[in-house]
Amino acid sequence: MIRLPVPTAQITAVPAVTPFVAPEELARRAGLPALLRLGANESAFGPSPRAIAAMREAAEHASWYGDPESIDLRTALAARHACAVDNVVVGSGIDDLMSLIVRTFCAPGDAALATRGTYATWTYHVAAYGVRAETADPTPDAAIDVDALLERAARTAPKVVYVANPDNPSGAFTSAAELARLRAGLADGVLLVIDEAYADFVDDRLLPSATLEPRTIRLRTFSKAYGLAGARVGYAIAAADYVRTFQKIRQHFGVNRTAQIGALAALADPAFAQSVVAEVTRGRADYAELGRRLGCRTLPSATNFVCFEIGTKAAAEEMVGALLARGVFVRKPAAPPIDGFIRVTVGTGAERAVFAEIFSEALASMREKAAV
Ligand SMILES: *Cc1c(COP(=O)(O)O)cnc(C)c1O
Repeated sequence: MIRLPVPTAQITAVPAVTPFVAPEELARRAGLPALLRLGANESAFGPSPRAIAAMREAAEHASWYGDPESIDLRTALAARHACAVDNVVVGSGIDDLMSLIVRTFCAPGDAALATRGTYATWTYHVAAYGVRAETADPTPDAAIDVDALLERAARTAPKVVYVANPDNPSGAFTSAAELARLRAGLADGVLLVIDEAYADFVDDRLLPSATLEPRTIRLRTFSKAYGLAGARVGYAIAAADYVRTFQKIRQHFGVNRTAQIGALAALADPAFAQSVVAEVTRGRADYAELGRRLGCRTLPSATNFVCFEIGTKAAAEEMVGALLARGVFVRKPAAPPIDGFIRVTVGTGAERAVFAEIFSEALASMREKAAV
């Protein structure tokens, strides 16, 4: 018998966790050619036409490697955030940067703390490096609870504390003052990671000041308001020492040339991003109105999605399935207190109208069944 090569004990011990099942896979399972994509908080409004044009042109040079230092893009980002180029590192999405952060700051067996039920990919990377995932309870309305995080941090001595602001899947916003209180309550040696994937939907004046906080890393992405999720571009704003460390271990050509060029062009078209934010604001109001009409509570949201209350966890799961069977892809929060909700991305006006019709029908049929 041949003895096959085996993964290391550390890798073998990693639990198999899938953060998300993709809509492509869900469509294959449902035997449908495509789904109405309202489940991954992708932008329904696409990238800026300028970004599309730039990427089209860049396709001609797809034979070239991109600039591994992403200098043009980092220079533009540094100008936008009033920091130095040395304070910006670009990755293939926030998800990629999360992996770098966990790998850099946590050894196997160390603890990393986050709020229960928050963005699942964080925990995925924590697990991937054999790091212990500690959680703090959210507030009763599913927002970040700073006191609970501080209390858990005091007990579990995490290397890193992760907060998504605005949060996914709740949509809740945590004020700059509350985040400052969190930072002040953590030991100096604890890294605070603030995932600002949805910050573009929030008035800049409500966010923590742009001044660099050396014990804190902020994460941003082109995936949401800029409509470039498939291009995979995100970035971190961090102390120069940390950026240098990330530069040593990241995938050298991880952010491809076309994506760098597209992101740079998107950044140069702030009017387009503003129009997306305005349309998303209208869409959230539409969803809140739909919820009122159908007797489903909705959660306030500072993002491009809205959570609708369905009932029990089982009822919400059933609704996700019922929508999928009707060709609509949505997801639902996994943990209480909002595991009885579904999470719906703001679509275009036309998509919102289709969703309203299908959701009303699925809800009526579920309620009818429950009444029998
Ligand atoms: C969508 C999302 C991300 C993913 O960002 P990418 O740049 O596409 O990897 C990260 N964090 C949160 C909270 C998100 O909702």
